[in-house]
Amino acid sequence: MNFTSKTMRLQNADTVPYLQFNSLSELKFIRHAFSTRLGGVSEGEFTSMNTAFNRGDDPAHVTENYRRICAAAGFDFDSLVASAQDHHTYVRAVTSADRGVGIRKPRDRESVDALITNEPGVTLVTYYADCTPLFFVDTVTHAVGLAHAGWRGTVGRIGQKVVEKMTALYGTDPKDIMAAIGPAISVCCYEVDEPCAAQFLALRDLDSDKFVFPKGNGKFMVDLLETNRQILVKAGVPAENIAVSDVCTNCHSDLLWSHRATKGHRGTMSAFLLQE
Ligand SMILES: [Zn+2]
Repeated sequence: MNFTSKTMRLQNADTVPYLQFNSLSELKFIRHAFSTRLGGVSEGEFTSMNTAFNRGDDPAHVTENYRRICAAAGFDFDSLVASAQDHHTYVRAVTSADRGVGIRKPRDRESVDALITNEPGVTLVTYYADCTPLFFVDTVTHAVGLAHAGWRGTVGRIGQKVVEKMTALYGTDPKDIMAAIGPAISVCCYEVDEPCAAQFLALRDLDSDKFVFPKGNGKFMVDLLETNRQILVKAGVPAENIAVSDVCTNCHSDLLWSHRATKGHRGTMSAFLLQE
């Protein structure tokens, strides 16, 4: 496997691999990880690290995969709280009372594309296979957040909604946030049609010349990561506090699940974020 990155590192490459941002690894009061498609026990099109319970995989295999990634990356399996993503922009605040939801307990609500908490010991879990993960860490209050930003969540400004809810509930000052974006399908591989591109061009307060690139045949290359980066800057997060992944899921489909690379026959990766 050929993995190089200026912003991320690959840990445990030979056993249960996971990715970490260099910048977030500097913060000693949190723990974070992004799983890969390797190191699990799932079979068939889910081989081998699939963290989705809702795609037809054996639930016992998915549970074992969570136990493996937790052991590898240092999370308490019992502390996991999962989202319930459907490409909307609802941000759910969770507490220690929610530990286990969506993993070892049933889901208790639908349409949750972002999770935030200000409690230690609650591990946030969100799902990906090309869509963009957004990590948020308040370096003063130590509140944390994760969001799932596909193209709908991105143009719906889910990143801004996370910042606003952390401010409203936890007193977060956006200038204290350290953020990380990705890994996701990147501008090299993310081609969309005109109606989708129009949604990005409609973000009039942003510099769309830097994230929508017409190909001249009615198709467009879109940079989801840059769009999210600009949305976070508009929301008050300092540009120098935002790390952007240079690891494209489609280009690295030997390591990472990509919906496009697999034509939908795939497992799912998870982002994990914990205030310790
Ligand atoms: Zn690519």
